[in-house]
Amino acid sequence: MVQAIQGFDFGSLPLPPEARAAMARVRDPGRWLLENKARSFNQQLAPPDGSGVDCARCGNKGSVAVVDEDGPRLVVRPCVCRSRRDTALRLKACGMLDRARVLSFERFRTDTPLQSRMKELSLAWLEEPKLPWLAFCGQSGAGKTHLCTAAFVQAVARRQLPGEYMLWGSALREIRGEPPERSGALLARLKNAPLLYVDDIFKGRADLPVSDWDLRLAFELLDYRYGNYLPTILSTERSFPELLRLDEAIAGRLRERCGKYLINITPEPAKNYRFRG
Ligand SMILES: [Zn+2]
Repeated sequence: MVQAIQGFDFGSLPLPPEARAAMARVRDPGRWLLENKARSFNQQLAPPDGSGVDCARCGNKGSVAVVDEDGPRLVVRPCVCRSRRDTALRLKACGMLDRARVLSFERFRTDTPLQSRMKELSLAWLEEPKLPWLAFCGQSGAGKTHLCTAAFVQAVARRQLPGEYMLWGSALREIRGEPPERSGALLARLKNAPLLYVDDIFKGRADLPVSDWDLRLAFELLDYRYGNYLPTILSTERSFPELLRLDEAIAGRLRERCGKYLINITPEPAKNYRFRG
């Protein structure tokens, strides 16, 4: 009878938490202390970091304290929410967090074979071991911006890449308006971004010429990224033949780095899905 009681596992009894804690404290006071320290660290709430990720495990600090068996000692490790948090902060830093929620692959409508093909290609691009360039050229309304955004967001999330987003027209105005040292720094940031999404490059009426300044800047940016094999996503309302006419060197580099990931959408009113009911 005594033996049976000695062999009984008291840990399996439905004891109240205070009693369990007291037993743990008696059994191994050093470990009990470390566990308490870990718990109080993990319960501390961090001020909001703007990621919108809410995690009870780490109190939104992005790291958790655990007792390492080796010692035992207290170690701080990244929380399971860390990569989600980092992705959200990266997207927020380049102004894409809100758009990322709306312009996802799941929300992209594939009503036409062209849209299915565009989506397939964007998803295949994401699977490439070394990201090539991805470009959608031609008629607006087929969902170019939607898919470019979805591909950009997924690349930032899966590869943990810091990305930069550049809306061509407003970025150019910004670069022009800054004093030289500031505009130089801004351009350097875009040139060196581990992933860059250039949205609506050479926007403007097809019959109006693109200024030499715009072309020079586009060449400087894209030639640098071409030479350094830096992944780039690009959308433009210009068709690929138009790009070739505008600047053969830019178009040539685009074609070479994109390979099969360059889609040229030929004008046809039915392809403009924005105006569909
Ligand atoms: Zn967490």
